[in-house]
Amino acid sequence: MSTEQWESNEEIQYFRDYLRIASVHPNPNYAPCLEFLRQQAEQLQLPLAVHYPFDSDNPVVVLTWQGLRPELPALLLNSHMDVVPVFAENWTHPPFGADIDAEGRIFARGTQDMKCVGMQYLAAIRALKRNGVRLKRTIHISFVADEEMGGRRGMRPFVETEAFRALNIGFGLDEGLASPTAEFPVFYAERSVWRMTFKISGTAGHGSLLLPNTAGEKLHYILDKMMQLRRQQVARLENNPELTIGDVTTINLTRIGGGVQSNVVPPLLTAGFDVRLALDVVHEEFYAQLQEWMEQAGGGIELEFDQKHPYVPATAIDDSNPFWLAFKSATDELSLKIRPQIFTGGTDSRYLRKSGIPALGFSPMNNTPLQLPCAAVSFVPRPPPAAHLQTPRPRCSSNAALHSPSD
Ligand SMILES: [Zn+2]
Repeated sequence: MSTEQWESNEEIQYFRDYLRIASVHPNPNYAPCLEFLRQQAEQLQLPLAVHYPFDSDNPVVVLTWQGLRPELPALLLNSHMDVVPVFAENWTHPPFGADIDAEGRIFARGTQDMKCVGMQYLAAIRALKRNGVRLKRTIHISFVADEEMGGRRGMRPFVETEAFRALNIGFGLDEGLASPTAEFPVFYAERSVWRMTFKISGTAGHGSLLLPNTAGEKLHYILDKMMQLRRQQVARLENNPELTIGDVTTINLTRIGGGVQSNVVPPLLTAGFDVRLALDVVHEEFYAQLQEWMEQAGGGIELEFDQKHPYVPATAIDDSNPFWLAFKSATDELSLKIRPQIFTGGTDSRYLRKSGIPALGFSPMNNTPLQLPCAAVSFVPRPPPAAHLQTPRPRCSSNAALHSPSD
């Protein structure tokens, strides 16, 4: 089979052009993305605005398709332009070559997370416009920077700006995950990330003695409590097949530090944890529990946070949310099986939800192996079902999974 059938597809061409832009951390250059999106806006005849909510290196690009009733709250279709670093030596193809093989697989960083989704938004609008469709509500399509670093230079400051408020967003779509089965996951909430380090002081001295109150004993106590909590969560998950990992609190020891030499009892040991608080955890109570354990361990322990995300309420997925009802009826009409769930990691959706805007994480890729970050996606076009937008079906087959998709 030749690659011609894929290469001649207009949307696949745009997608590959976008993938060839190396907007890669640690120092992404977004200027070529801007240029590419300007061309897209021109082709689609949509106005484009560029905002700089953090600094001039981190743009937020917004294309706007005005609806028939622009006074109504608008829809936001969000994607991020940045991708995580690559280790080219582990790749079978150049990571920014967007090579295509005879099966239609495209090899590039960012295929699944999440340049495909950004291009699917534009492909959908292109198809609708081509068919003369006019929608009631205005649609803003945003392309943001810095999501992979937690959105501190992108969506987080953007939602605080006057420019964002002026968009009058009523509902947002953002990234989800690919699904290896026919079912599509739809994410309506995220857990709160707490990344923290216990700095444990204790009596220092010679390793030949049995000194009281050593850092090692305190560390043992803290570790024991944290691991007990972890076991409880593992059991919760195992005992209830209805639950997914996003429904429980995850606790992982990620760093251990300290010590001077092997015969010296050290004055300080540190233990770092990545904790993701489930939506049913009361933050104040959890924090108080940690403080209590630190006292019980013998005191002299400080707790430092790299990240301490506040509680963000879930987006309602019931009759109270008309946008959910519209989303659900569209997927029902297309006979798509969807499964609402809580996202395991963190995405820019949390900043929308925190601002009171309902948001769903939805990457329309089913029957696609979940590989993050994804090294390859194939587009296997199929005839679109009635009323379905002409978005190709991507399939991912990656060979490099070295970084987390998001924080
Ligand atoms: Zn992403």
